[in-house]
Amino acid sequence: MKNDIYEKMEILSNSAKYDVSCSSSGVETNYKKGELGATHTSGICHSFTPDGRCVSLLKVLLTNICIYDCAYCINRISNDIPRAVFTPRELADITINFYKRNYIEGLFLSSGIVKTEDHTMTLILKALKILRYEYKFNGYIHVKLIPASSMELVEQIVKLANRVSSNIELPSDKSLKLLAPNKTKEKVLQPLKFARDLSLEKNQKPIGMSTQLIVGATPESDRDILKLSSALYDKALLKRVYYSAYIPVNDDRNLPSIVSKPPMLREHRLYQADWLLRFYDFSWEEIVTDEFPNLDEDLDPKAFWAINNLKYFPMEINTASKEELLRIPGIGARGVFKILKARRFKRLTFDDLKKLKISIKKAKYFITCDKEFQKQVPFYRENIRTALIKPEVKKIIQPSLFDISSITGEL
Ligand code: SF4
Repeated sequence: MKNDIYEKMEILSNSAKYDVSCSSSGVETNYKKGELGATHTSGICHSFTPDGRCVSLLKVLLTNICIYDCAYCINRISNDIPRAVFTPRELADITINFYKRNYIEGLFLSSGIVKTEDHTMTLILKALKILRYEYKFNGYIHVKLIPASSMELVEQIVKLANRVSSNIELPSDKSLKLLAPNKTKEKVLQPLKFARDLSLEKNQKPIGMSTQLIVGATPESDRDILKLSSALYDKALLKRVYYSAYIPVNDDRNLPSIVSKPPMLREHRLYQADWLLRFYDFSWEEIVTDEFPNLDEDLDPKAFWAINNLKYFPMEINTASKEELLRIPGIGARGVFKILKARRFKRLTFDDLKKLKISIKKAKYFITCDKEFQKQVPFYRENIRTALIKPEVKKIIQPSLFDISSITGEL
């Protein structure tokens, strides 16, 4: 067990780096020892406050001691690693010192489970009380709640924190049972449900809540993952679901090989699909279906949906509703706003879209402008998919006149 405060800091900030549920930065740079500018090791991460500000946070664990044995976790009890624990006073002092030096604007505090769930939450609460009441610290604090801890402690922490989260980690009960037998989805979500109900009861603005799902450690499909995220958003339980590509840290027969690469592209596609759920009014059943339960790694999810639903296309830019325009691949909310504004004055052509600075790189396969269909690949799923993935293919695939007229004739 480490006692030196710097050693503790090194161990406990390093152990926190696998948690992404606070919009971590973690961009690799060419940092060399003794130079300034290390961004990838650990310690400071960035997050976004409810009003959209980006803040730097001290990202650290209270302790990396844990009585649980989750198979995917570096801090599990069966791992032989250096261990450390901050006292609440040490943690509060470090936070305030970093804050005073302008290194951070807030704290992201997570923890392993030391002795019991309630004992750990009591230590966290003590640190928060020192920060808020003694040091009068009004900065941003995000706390990871401990599953199965008492609701009295949850209530007190919710009063002092700006955001709380509780990590579900694995998308199904079956996987949780296999890899994290001390946890169940219910246990993990219980403190979040309690915090939500508390704010509803007291007619208060709900506190920001989030969770993390590990991607690629277990066999669940993107459909399973997005179905779960969607249910959590629908119940107004969470503000954000964070997806974390599985990074192998333990050799375990129930997990991917220790040398396997984290599925970063899959993680990225899930974030894009999540964006469609939250801001583009898509349902999870539209994005991932029985036929295609996983997102297409080569296409963004909106383009993936579009090629699987060609019956809605090509779409006429001048007559489509706002909701329909939002479904065109490559055209975002800003582009839709510009189109709606501009078409009040004239029927738009492809030149007009260009003047409006709306990229039609992807959209050209799915739209007509004043009945003109510009991108002439045969209007079939595979042809459009290939053209979207490899733009150079457009030179090879030449449509027949019949293909074009049959499309425009339907408008
Ligand atoms: S409870 Fe958290 S810290 Fe403990 S082993 Fe499981 S994932 Fe790791």
